[in-house]
Amino acid sequence: MVKENLKEVEEKITAACERAGRDRNEVTLIAVSKTKPMEMIEEAYSAGKRDFGENKAQEMKEKHDALPDDIKWHFIGHLQTNKVKYVVGRATLIHSVDSLHLAEAIEKESEKKNLVSDILIEVNVACEESKFGLKTDEVEKLVRDVAKLPHLRVKGLMTIAPFVENAEENRNIFRELKALSVDIAAKNIDNISMDILSMGMTGDYEVAVEEGATLVRVGTGIFGERNYSI
Ligand SMILES: *Cc1c(COP(=O)(O)O)cnc(C)c1O
Repeated sequence: MVKENLKEVEEKITAACERAGRDRNEVTLIAVSKTKPMEMIEEAYSAGKRDFGENKAQEMKEKHDALPDDIKWHFIGHLQTNKVKYVVGRATLIHSVDSLHLAEAIEKESEKKNLVSDILIEVNVACEESKFGLKTDEVEKLVRDVAKLPHLRVKGLMTIAPFVENAEENRNIFRELKALSVDIAAKNIDNISMDILSMGMTGDYEVAVEEGATLVRVGTGIFGERNYSI
């Protein structure tokens, strides 16, 4: 199942790249394995997948420590400062930095572990009450503040678009995030790059790819529905 699903999602990404005139190598599929058992991750791994996404610090730590070293773990969930220690040094990229307070905690832990952490800034483009992330007009300020932290590297932006029935409804959200990243890149802030755009999930990743996503985060479309009750 997992293998077939992966293949299908990869093919849809390829087709979306073709429609948009993009190079397929610009887009990486992150298999979002949160709540899913190690065996399913191993199945995806044996099919060649190396990028996985988790949204809970301890769950990512456990899976990271048990599974092969060449897996790249993407931390995509809301991160509390007291959990930063589990994530720094294990995540290849932290997608969800949305405050200076959190950035400073990651800086401190990175310094302690003598490494540099790559991060994205999470933007709540649609201004949904229920979601984390900065408003569009707050992003530049945080980027400038984080640029001063020597053990952090801002690589780009991330958004979680609203849940919609029709993916087309999110096209403007993805366009807005792309436009914001182009804006910020043009300011040539030291220590900052805007190369990564993490956007698109099971319901809307094809539209996200058409609008410039470089990382798409797909869970259900690869591993099936999640069961939170067990
Ligand atoms: C769970 C999750 C995903 C994957 O969602 P699906 O709809 O199952 O593809 C992507 N991004 C984030 C931040 C998530 O928490």
